Amino acid sequence: ALEHHESTSVVLPEMMPKEAIDKTITDVVSHEFFHTVNPLKTHSEEIHYFDYADPKMSQHLWMYEGGTEYFANLFQIQEGLINKDEFLQRMNEKITNSKNYDDTMPFTVMSKNVLQDQYKDQYRNVYEKGALLAMCLDIELRKLSNGEMGYRDMIRKLSQRFGENKPFKDDKLIDELVTVTGYPQVKDFYNKYIAGNQPTPYAEYLNMVGVEAKKKDTPPLFWFIKDPNQTGYNDKNNTFIFDESSALSPFAKSVGFKITDEILALDGKTIDIQKMQDFINYAKSIKEGQNVTVTILRKNGDKTDKIELKGKAILDKMTIESLQYKANPTPAELKLQTQWLIGKK
Ligand SMILES: [Zn+2]
Repeated sequence: ALEHHESTSVVLPEMMPKEAIDKTITDVVSHEFFHTVNPLKTHSEEIHYFDYADPKMSQHLWMYEGGTEYFANLFQIQEGLINKDEFLQRMNEKITNSKNYDDTMPFTVMSKNVLQDQYKDQYRNVYEKGALLAMCLDIELRKLSNGEMGYRDMIRKLSQRFGENKPFKDDKLIDELVTVTGYPQVKDFYNKYIAGNQPTPYAEYLNMVGVEAKKKDTPPLFWFIKDPNQTGYNDKNNTFIFDESSALSPFAKSVGFKITDEILALDGKTIDIQKMQDFINYAKSIKEGQNVTVTILRKNGDKTDKIELKGKAILDKMTIESLQYKANPTPAELKLQTQWLIGKK
């Protein structure tokens, strides 16, 4: 996509079926078009005077990319392009995907240093955790203002104060946000969850707007643990790793898999962070009783063994935690939920 001050040009490959392209256009354009507001009308000096030969990065990818990604989804409910269940499902996926990245790395530090090798693999988290940070800040603002002000209002005010020709100082953004919102609490949020190393308490924020995490059963699937959402990604080994509190699936038990083992390949198919979905889709296509070979890494003292486990697939109902609107929210939760999703009325 190519961003201009008042428009966006998008080029997409024609290899998808038309229906998939239509959906992609909606999502891509929703995201890219909002870049005409953020960062084009709300940016720091690093972006305004961008040096292509010797780039200096801003600390605020959480806002430029995360805020844009969040708003690109939220506005689709308001315009009737998706319903509020689809929105929640998308945020749920972002929570799951964000677990593949370092949740204690301050977002501002990652953003500032993202061109360096040890940070660059965290970049794609701007579309996952970055969007969730904007969501929680949105809910925080709604809560503080009794529903009157949200993330969108904050960005509008920021763009009015600065605009396309006037950059802000990178380390003064948070003070500007306090000024335009009138809420010093925004700075507490920023210091803890954006510039600090505290994981954001998504459940706590979602609870305020009448959303809870509920366990539900899936149709029978092939996987290694009972709650697929407890799967993590180890970017050093390109492996899947599992939360040690997770329960093993019947298949994993049958082949002697240990919860501390790392999955390196399934039937020779390796894991690539850019094409993670291909691996997951392959796992989903496995049928009951099919012969399966899992390549794992297993710690053995201070060395690591590469081992092949072979067995017949056992499909099992998996239990996943997913976000749902509460059946009986309190009147306050329901009011805040409406203001959050639909905007102030
Ligand atoms: Zn973007």
